[in-house]
Amino acid sequence: MLILLKTDASRKEIETVKNRVTELGFTPHEIPGVQRVAIGITGNKAKVDSEIFLTLPGVVDCVSVSKPFKLVSRDFKPEQTVVAVGKGSFGGKEIGIIAGPCSVESRSQILEVAELVKSAGAKFLRGGAFKPRTSPYAFQGLKLEGLEYLKEAAERTGLSVVTEVKDAETLSLVAEHSDILQIGARNMYNFSLLEKAGELGKPVLLKRSFAATIEELLMAAEYILSKGNYNVILCERGIRTFETYTRNTLDLNAVPLIKKLSHLPIIVDPSHGTGAWDLVPPLAQAAIVAGADGLMMEVHLHPEAALSDGFQSLKPDTFLRLMNSLRSAAELVGRTMP
Ligand code: PEP
Ligand code: MN
Repeated sequence: MLILLKTDASRKEIETVKNRVTELGFTPHEIPGVQRVAIGITGNKAKVDSEIFLTLPGVVDCVSVSKPFKLVSRDFKPEQTVVAVGKGSFGGKEIGIIAGPCSVESRSQILEVAELVKSAGAKFLRGGAFKPRTSPYAFQGLKLEGLEYLKEAAERTGLSVVTEVKDAETLSLVAEHSDILQIGARNMYNFSLLEKAGELGKPVLLKRSFAATIEELLMAAEYILSKGNYNVILCERGIRTFETYTRNTLDLNAVPLIKKLSHLPIIVDPSHGTGAWDLVPPLAQAAIVAGADGLMMEVHLHPEAALSDGFQSLKPDTFLRLMNSLRSAAELVGRTMP
């Protein structure tokens, strides 16, 4: 349930409502918003009797929320959430662009690619240091060394770092070296990792799992928000279908649908979504026109020599051309490119 308070409700009135919710054995969540003060209730097994709250001073209405996700839903928070990090943001007028190699491979590689990403106007640098690979014999990432190179690249360029956290053991280490924690497709169902990332409070980029429904993605985000962290960016990165010509099938339905269901920003990863570098530009354009709040793209100076995902990585010239051409796509939907 959602308890709506009058716009000028006093701090005392808000606290009274929250205390009443706690007394009843539920959890109150003060929903950040500009238009109205709202308190969401979670932890109830059955429908809560709204009469209990309607009599409290400052309360104007109680709305029951039937969806399984609460804190992530637009019913709870009608205003779009804008996750602002460093010089960029996701969910505002400007499109957030995250670009960089699949994996950090060496100091010079990430420093060079960071300069390229910066020159294209992007504000976020990606690069995996702890890589979740299908084969245990494949390159697993440079780990701490990779994190240190990312941090150096960020300090030199002013870009913010997005890198994947693979498990709870390395969470604080990855958090120390990054601005946004990426939780990948393989970990979308790792509920204890989601909760720990929620407790940490650092912005999280949550990627949809291979076979996850949109509702499952939103429920995974709910784990993070339930711990008080509203800085969550959702990412559509393709799902598994019967199609074999592409690595995944990019589900662009997710973009306008998530816009309707949730206040959280939604971005698109056309690199993993297609698994083919030449399909990235058209799908990146389509994602922007569909209303995506950002893009995550793999870029490599020498894709043919990449230690992971070279086949889906853009070369510098293609990346720069794409960044320029995305301006008109953004303009079409009233957005701007960085
Ligand atoms: C990645 O971004 O490099 C990655 C491994 O993505 P996903 O979790 O979507 O497979
Ligand atoms: Mn990759």
